[in-house]
Amino acid sequence: MRIERILANNPGPYTGPGTNTWLIGDETGRVAVLDPGPIEDAHTNEILRRVAGSQPVGVIVTHTHPDHAPMANPLARELGVPAYGHAPGPSFEPDVVLADDSTVDIGDARLEVIHTPGHSDDHLCFRVGSVLFTGDHIMGGSSVMVEDMGSYLQSLRRLLGSGLTRLHPGHGEEMEDPDRVIEWYLAHRLQRHEQIYEAIRAGATSTPEIVEMVYADVDSALHPLGARSVEAHLVLLAEQGRIALSGDGARMAPAEPS
Ligand SMILES: [Zn+2]
Repeated sequence: MRIERILANNPGPYTGPGTNTWLIGDETGRVAVLDPGPIEDAHTNEILRRVAGSQPVGVIVTHTHPDHAPMANPLARELGVPAYGHAPGPSFEPDVVLADDSTVDIGDARLEVIHTPGHSDDHLCFRVGSVLFTGDHIMGGSSVMVEDMGSYLQSLRRLLGSGLTRLHPGHGEEMEDPDRVIEWYLAHRLQRHEQIYEAIRAGATSTPEIVEMVYADVDSALHPLGARSVEAHLVLLAEQGRIALSGDGARMAPAEPS
């Protein structure tokens, strides 16, 4: 089994040190490229240099955000292989659509596809043996922006206790002890969920007010990301019947006891 990481040069508040492009190969020289990243010459040249002499079989994306997918179609064309992903996105068109529970064979190595909506609707994780490529579902060292909190928590719980031994994220370093990491993610999210509910009970009526109260311990550069997460928590709190949102979502109050 060949697993190599190539770091793209796009560091930032949302991407940590940059996007991890992963080469996943078998013993016979076949290789797939996971998340080739943004269109950037030096990074593309490094990918091409590292797959030279191997037999490429596909370019795969975990999801279609701009730090993961834009290079996928051009690179697939250049290598003469299909592009794989769950759904089309703003700068990505899959040649092969990957559904939950499907597989991609890289010679002797089999990638199992796990649909993990939450960070984005189209997000996939890929499992080889007990190793999981997590994309932005679980990141090494920076917090995940969540679009749909209910789905996100479900997608985390689905991975728990599934016999994983190692996580290879879309950003940051590899992680050992996946169950401990996933339990931390779940606990962190549920803690934020309760903090946001408490902020509303204490009188907060807008997302910026909640961000001020709940993300006081977080670098203000990350507050826009915090605001997105707060919105996702609010939707889930409303679904749970714990708060009432007004039509525009700008005002909120604890639900009246029924
Ligand atoms: Zn990302």
